[in-house]
Amino acid sequence: MELDLDHLEKLIPRYDVAGPRYTSYPTAPVWKEDFGDEAYGRALEQVAPGADLSLYVHVPFCESLCHYCACNKVITRKAELPVRYLEVIAREIEATRQRLRGDPRAVELHWGGGTPTHLTPEQIRTLFDAITSAIPLHDDAEVSIEVDPRVTTVDHMDVLAECGFNRISLGVQDFDARVQESVHRVQPVDQVEKLVVNSRERGFRSINFDLIYGLPYQTEDSFSRTLDTVLDLAPDRIALYSYAHVTWVAKQQRSFERSDLPEPARKLRIMLMAIRRFLEAGYVYIGMDHFARPEDDLSRALADGRLYRNFMGYTIRAGGELVGFGPSAISELEDSYAQSQRGLGEWEQAVEERGLATLRGHRLSADDLARRWVIQSIMCQGVVEASVYEARFGEPFAKRYAKEIQRLAPMAEDGLIVVEADGSLRVTSDGRLLVRNAAMAFDAYLEQQTRGDKPLFSKTV
Ligand code: SF4
Repeated sequence: MELDLDHLEKLIPRYDVAGPRYTSYPTAPVWKEDFGDEAYGRALEQVAPGADLSLYVHVPFCESLCHYCACNKVITRKAELPVRYLEVIAREIEATRQRLRGDPRAVELHWGGGTPTHLTPEQIRTLFDAITSAIPLHDDAEVSIEVDPRVTTVDHMDVLAECGFNRISLGVQDFDARVQESVHRVQPVDQVEKLVVNSRERGFRSINFDLIYGLPYQTEDSFSRTLDTVLDLAPDRIALYSYAHVTWVAKQQRSFERSDLPEPARKLRIMLMAIRRFLEAGYVYIGMDHFARPEDDLSRALADGRLYRNFMGYTIRAGGELVGFGPSAISELEDSYAQSQRGLGEWEQAVEERGLATLRGHRLSADDLARRWVIQSIMCQGVVEASVYEARFGEPFAKRYAKEIQRLAPMAEDGLIVVEADGSLRVTSDGRLLVRNAAMAFDAYLEQQTRGDKPLFSKTV
């Protein structure tokens, strides 16, 4: 897919507004605490017997704090915390399993954090066994894990390979020494390189690098050198995230001087340079901030229209229900979302008392379900086919969303979307970079959410 990056450089500043990333619809700020354990428990009981599931496990621990980070984590070196966590999560898995009917299987299992490899190799084995003995894996399941190269040892890699992990995601962010020091994450190239070699030797199917643009002291030159190294190491997938300055969520970001952060025009140039380099190197643009080698499953899924988006980002397991474990984990079932208590202590106490630890959730109305389908179609396929919408929801797409389509007129004028004669909505190649902006037009909650003083979302670029 071709992107006209010169055209986009002129347009993007106009579209750089705060907006959701649409890993769910409705987005998490809409969910309410009146959706608790009982509602989540009932939703689990309604999952089809023996369903194919996606599973997510949140391991919240990290050894030290990266100053850009807005994840839900617990910074600790205390050995007793993971020990207790493992006992509690085993209970949560058991309580969840009791509510699922038949013999469900996992087609996808992802461990995120935090830092999953903060656990010792033995603890990883214990947790893996606890999950897979409750919900066994399909033979061809995607089993993935996020690792921090600074704490991941050869022993970790051995256990991960023995367990059957086949995808690995490395937090890289930036290789520049000054940037690394300023964000409190010093991680030399050879540490990452060893882990890449190690992963390839153990037959991992796919290696992902997470990169961040917009960090303190980044320049086009410094990030270009980072990209040279990244492209030499040739990961199968790359996620290029925008640094989100969200000091109301991540207070430690206040340690950054505004003047140390690249100003918006430079940040944009860094992003466009990175995209240009990835495309020139033969990566396929998957959507939003994701790139993959043409032979990677994600690129194939994009080509076949099988791409799906959930809390783990872009995935190929369309429609599978997602069940989460651990503090702050999110579950996405047929018509509801649920999130567990975010604090480690609160989550432990809730699981010990009740088995589940639901903090909040949302049951989707008929309107939510239709809008979710539209937003998914825009985010993943880049098209809403009017006839498919009508067959599915029994009303003409163009008539039902006349106001929303009207709102997209500036994007149409800028060549980012096209409204076709039959009412279908198609995102153009350039528009795929600003796909969040198109999805935002269909979000029925956004106007009300952006009315408050406190920002809820980071900017789209
Ligand atoms: S970026 Fe990763 S390793 Fe660093 S604090 Fe956040 S979750 Fe932990």
